[in-house]
This record gives sequence, C-alpha cells and structure tokens, in this order.
Amino acid sequence: MIPGPVSIDDEILEALARPVQAHYGDRWTALYKHAVAGMKEVFKTQGEVHLVFGSGMAGVEMCIGSVLSVGDEVLIPTNGLFGDRMAEVATANGLKVHSFTAGIGQAITAAQVRDELAANPGVRAVCIVYHETSIGVLNEVEGICRAARDHGALAIVDGISAVGGVPFEMDAWGADLCVTVANKCIAGPIGVAPVAAGPRALAALDDGRPKAAGWYLNLATWRKYSELWSGWHPHPTTMPTNVIEAFDLALTRLLEEGVDARCRRLAASRDRVRDGLEEIGFEMLSPIATASPVTTAAYGLEGMDVDDYLDWLLREHRIRIGGGLGELRGRIFRVGHMGRAAEPEAIDRFLRATAAYVEKLPKAR
Ligand SMILES: *Cc1c(COP(=O)(O)O)cnc(C)c1O
Repeated sequence: MIPGPVSIDDEILEALARPVQAHYGDRWTALYKHAVAGMKEVFKTQGEVHLVFGSGMAGVEMCIGSVLSVGDEVLIPTNGLFGDRMAEVATANGLKVHSFTAGIGQAITAAQVRDELAANPGVRAVCIVYHETSIGVLNEVEGICRAARDHGALAIVDGISAVGGVPFEMDAWGADLCVTVANKCIAGPIGVAPVAAGPRALAALDDGRPKAAGWYLNLATWRKYSELWSGWHPHPTTMPTNVIEAFDLALTRLLEEGVDARCRRLAASRDRVRDGLEEIGFEMLSPIATASPVTTAAYGLEGMDVDDYLDWLLREHRIRIGGGLGELRGRIFRVGHMGRAAEPEAIDRFLRATAAYVEKLPKAR
C-alpha cells in the first residue's frame, strides 16, 4: 500500500513471465500500436504517444530536454520531492530554473504561476507535477496549463502518479507534454513511461534550435523511428516485449473498466481510507479539495512514533505504507490506493491493523 509502484493482478504477473519475442515484425508492431492507441485514450489526446522503455523520470527528462535548449528559462514550482526532481532534471540539462514552493502540504495554484510568469517574462516552459506523490496533493494543473499557454510557454506535466486514476484531459486542458508510468494508476508493470506530445510540443521539436536532449531520451529520435520504421519497429531501440505485453493487458483492463470509472473507484477508496483514519482520530495533511484520490497522507497522532507504526504494520501485518519525506519525515504517513491496494478488503485490513496499533498506544487519545 505504498504510493507506487503498485501490487498488480496475477494475470499481469503471468504476462510478464511470457518468453521474450522479437521486438519487430507484424505481430509485435500490432501489439505496440495497440498499447499506443490505448494510451491516447487514457491521456485523452489526439497527439503522439511513445512508450519509452525506462522509469518515470526517464520520461520527465525526455519531455524537458526534447523541446528546450541549454540556457532556456523554465518555471518549475514545487511542493515536494517530485517537483524538486523535475527542477534537478532541468538544471542537469543546462536550463535556467525559476522556482517557488507552496506552504507545507499546500497545492500549487494557477494564480501563483501567473504571478511568477508575469515576473519572469522569458520563461519558455512551465513544468508541473500533477499529483505530488510525496504529500498526496493535487496541483491546479488545468489552470496552470492555461496560464502557461497565455504566456506563450509550453506546459510540461509530470502525470506519473495521476494519469489513468485521476481525472486528466491532456488536449482539453492544453498540456503540451505529459508523462506517466505503467506501474501506478494503470496497475501495470515497472519499465514503461508513456510520453504524450501535442502539436505545440511537436512544433518545438522542429523549430531549428539545438535541444538539450541527447539521443535516447529525445522525442525527436522516437518520432523519427515511429515514422521511418512504422510498420516494422516503430521505436528506436530494443524493447522489453514481455513488459509491454503485460502493460497492454493492464491497459486493456483499465479501458474495459473505463478511465472515468477507474477514477471514481479510486476516489471512493480514498474516501474509505480518509473516513476510516479520521474515525480512529487521525488528522489529514490536506483538505479534501486538494487531496489526491490515489494517495492519502495523514499526520501521526500526538506521542505516536510514526516509524515504529510503519515497522509494526510491516512486521505484524505484512502491510507496507509510505512515510513522510523531507521535513515531514516522522510526522506523516502515506497510504497508496492504486492497484490491488485500492480493494476495499485491503483498505479494511489496513484500517483494522491501524486501529489495533493505536489501541495499544500508551494513551495517545
Ligand atoms: C513515482 C513518481 C516519479 C518517479 O518515477 P520513477 O519511475 O521512479 O522514475 C516521478 N514523479 C511522480 C509524481 C511520481 O509519483
């Protein structure tokens, strides 16, 4: 029950165990394109999708490096570990990063981004994490994308722990680039980072300016092979064919359920976790308005040793949840409710165990 990677169904594990097949040819190309078409539905985009073989951060790096040049100014607001990481990626790619932080546990708002853009007219792209998994908070991505557009800047979204489980509409919201992973809300295997690019991002690829990206994590490379080798090998390098098969199965299950229905189901899991924890006496890190529907963060009770609680849950109940990061370390815990961890039985098991732990605390309440 950590906030990703998630536990996956047996049929997905079985698909992972299938023999590797050739990463080219008719059968493979049909499978790859099937997964690409499925991801377009999930991203809600008519743009391009590439299935980057790598972790989520590989996709983040690809988005940032492919459309921007060394020395370009970018705005990267952050309210946690993953916003900080986006800024690190941009800095490592030679970009000039403007940043600001929201208060602890607070969402980043479109109004804040507009102010910051007004103060920094040279910004060419706004990079934003949708669901800041380290605190379980949703940032105002729709409004932030609009603010970026109004400024003439690209909107680059880390949708890694959101797409497929949190309402998101890439084209309607005006996101230019978005990355997610198979192993969070999509409940698939580790190893695929689907990257989506809209028309403004594709135009930026071809604007003649030399880009920060090298070869592999460069959207232009992936685009080139998807066209040049379209019917045979529509990506630049070897692919983990069994991982893509397992991913395609997870994606099929998501589309059978329906993306909107999945979002509602995970939000209902969030309510079950929140209500249950509040009943035990816990205070949530964020109000429901900004709380993630797929990860719940709560403060430890007064006098409770959060690390001891996490160790106890794992030792006594084989339930692993996440702790706090940075300044929230030891103060909060985080429960993921994606994949199998969103099942009501799993949540109830967790809540019963937590109630038992609190019950035996010296006198916490
Ligand atoms: C998990 C996560 C990442 C990192 O993904 P990796 O697959 O570990 O590279 C980045 N951003 C967010 C918001 C995440 O939740």
